Amino acid sequence: MTAVQRHKQLINHAMSTIDSVAHLNSVESSSVTCNTLSGIVQNHTHIRLIDRIHRRQASGNKFFSFEFFPPKTASGTLNLFSRFEAMNLGRPLFCSMTWHPANDPSNTDKPTSSTRVASTMQNDLGIETLLHMTCVNQTRSQVVENLRKAKDLGIRNIFAVRGDVSEGAEGHHVGGHLNYAADLVRIIKEEFGDHFVVGVAGYPSGHPECTSYANDLHRLKEKVDAGADFIISQIFFEAEAFLKFVRDCKAIGIDCPILPGILPIQAYQFRHIVKLAGLEVPQEIIDAMNLIKTNDEAMKNFAIDHTVELCKTLLLDGESVPGIHFFTLNREVPTIDIVKKLGLWKEDIFRPLALKIASNDERCKEII
Ligand SMILES: Cc1cc2nc3c(=O)[nH]c(=O)nc-3n(C[C@H](O)[C@H](O)[C@H](O)COP(=O)(O)OP(=O)(O)OC[C@H]3O[C@@H](n4cnc5c(N)ncnc54)[C@H](O)[C@@H]3O)c2cc1C
Repeated sequence: MTAVQRHKQLINHAMSTIDSVAHLNSVESSSVTCNTLSGIVQNHTHIRLIDRIHRRQASGNKFFSFEFFPPKTASGTLNLFSRFEAMNLGRPLFCSMTWHPANDPSNTDKPTSSTRVASTMQNDLGIETLLHMTCVNQTRSQVVENLRKAKDLGIRNIFAVRGDVSEGAEGHHVGGHLNYAADLVRIIKEEFGDHFVVGVAGYPSGHPECTSYANDLHRLKEKVDAGADFIISQIFFEAEAFLKFVRDCKAIGIDCPILPGILPIQAYQFRHIVKLAGLEVPQEIIDAMNLIKTNDEAMKNFAIDHTVELCKTLLLDGESVPGIHFFTLNREVPTIDIVKKLGLWKEDIFRPLALKIASNDERCKEII
């Protein structure tokens, strides 16, 4: 057999395998083709994340996604990459990387920067990546520069948030600085058209600084009207709080997908996060946690059981919940456990080629 014949045979084999995978899992076959045969198949079609979300919403094939934050040290980054690989096995629809202004997030020379980690996720680990970006305390040209870097690295999805404003801090409402996430969404659209799929944050109990829940919903609508494609919610603890939020959004004309943001309750960080985000925890959860707070194993089981029940109720709610976004706190074991218990974990059965999967659609055109 000649080298060319062998090459063709490999491609045919891989294509038929991919067809089976796509058929088995009702996933988007052209994107699978592109991802799996990175560099060999050139006539690929990039499927935008928002289209994939819409497809999954229409088909009722529920998905999950993960949020991670950038590690503090270079060795922590390596450790996180191995977690990405383990967690990507279950095929999350996308993974997001948060943005922390104090941590030099756009500095691609720094192994711990959000942009650099997101680039590795996207280009080397084959993960459809959603890079968070904040805008407060920054000028238009600074955020455009950050976005341009992300674009050059092949990032196609941005989660546009304002960022937190410390009380009395300079920068907020300072001339030339951006004040709200809607400003960032507008800039993304004006400067980059539809290059980026844009997600924004929504608050089932209203944002802590808002004047009223109703007013906050209208502010959310402004972000969607400015061009946001989908919403990820702030943490909440009761399914009805989220479902009501979705109904209220629909009632004022917000009709994009809204993903529930779920934090598996984990004792040591829980109080800190709740305080930071200004959340109210239902008394029954506080009581239950108080009863078992000295028993790590019981606490872990409680966290998993509570999260699984919450997610099951949400997923049963038909079309309004297309998938679940997990705030993983970079922790692999409890999150995977929960996703498996929900029946959403779908490990690849076939690995047609021993290639790293590229999610960057530009890299799919490379000839190897
Ligand atoms: C899923 C999720 C992910 C997040 N990721 C990050 C991250 O990676 N990094 C980070 O630093 N933070 C992150 N945050 C936190 C976020 O930055 C804070 O919650 C921040 O306080 C608000 O951000 P926002 O984008 O919702 O702001 P905005 O939508 O701008 O709203 C902020 C407040 O201003 C009000 N408002 C909006 N527009 C106007 C207007 N024109 N006039 C008057 N008031 C207005 C709103 O009602 C609200 O009270 C995240 C939050 C969520 C829910």
